[in-house]
Amino acid sequence: MRTPLVVANWKMNTTVNDGVALAKELRAELGTVKGVEKVLCPPFVSLVPISEVLNGSSIKLGAQNIHFEESGAYTGEISPLMLKGLCRFVIIGHSERRIYFNESLEVINKKIKAALKAELKPILCVGENHKEEEAGESVGTITGQLRSALDGVREIGNLTIAYEPVWAIGTGKAAAPREVNSTANIIRRVIESVYGDDFEDRVRVIYGGSVTVDNIRDFMHEEHIDGAIVGGASLRASDFTAIVKKTAEIKAGK
Ligand code: PEP
Repeated sequence: MRTPLVVANWKMNTTVNDGVALAKELRAELGTVKGVEKVLCPPFVSLVPISEVLNGSSIKLGAQNIHFEESGAYTGEISPLMLKGLCRFVIIGHSERRIYFNESLEVINKKIKAALKAELKPILCVGENHKEEEAGESVGTITGQLRSALDGVREIGNLTIAYEPVWAIGTGKAAAPREVNSTANIIRRVIESVYGDDFEDRVRVIYGGSVTVDNIRDFMHEEHIDGAIVGGASLRASDFTAIVKKTAEIKAGK
C-alpha cells in the first residue's frame, strides 16, 4: 500500500522567525497524526532551524530545489550533498522554476539523477499549462515531461510525482478531482511501462493546484491520488493541519 503524502510548499514566503513559529504550530498539531507522511518545504535559510523544531517528530523536511552538481563555481546554488542528512525530500521541476528560471527538461533530468544519488526523495512536478490544456495536449505534455525527467534513470527509489496543472497553481481554480484521478492513473501506467509493476505501490502520485480545506476531501476520495502538494494554504497552520487530518481520515477509510 502507498502511504499518503501531504507536502507544504512554502515557496519564497516566511522569514526564518515566521517559518520557525509556523513549524512549531504544525509540530504541535500534526506531530502525532498517523497514516499520512507530512513534509514541510520551507525556504533554504530556514531548513536548519526548522530541522531543530521538527527533530523527533513525524514531520519531515524537504527542499524546494537543488543544483545538479555536488559542488563548484555555481554562485547562489545549493547542492544535493549540502541537503543530504538535513532533508529527506526535494521538489524538482516545479512549474515556477520551469517558467521563471528557464529550467529545461535536460536540467530537470540531471536534478532527478543528482537527488537520487544523494539519497534524497524527489517530488517531481509535471503539469500542462493553460494553452496546452485548451489544445487537448495535457496528456502528451505530462507524459513527455515524465519520460524526459526519468530518461536514463534506472533506479527511481521512492519517487513521488506531483501532478500540478500550471493553470491551477495559486489561481483558486483547482482541477476536477475525477480528471486528476484519470491523469494520475495515466502517470502510474507510464511508470509501470518503464519500470514494471513493482513500482505500483512505491511511486506516489499526488495533486497540487489550489488545494484547500474545502476541496481536499474530493481529491482524497479518488483512488489514484495519493496525497497533495499545498502552496498557499500551507502557510496557515490551521488550514494545513485540517488538510493533513482530512487526508489521513479519508485514506484510512473513515
Ligand atoms: C504549488 O505551488 O505547489 C501549489 C500547489 O500552490 P497552490 O496550492 O498555492 O496552488
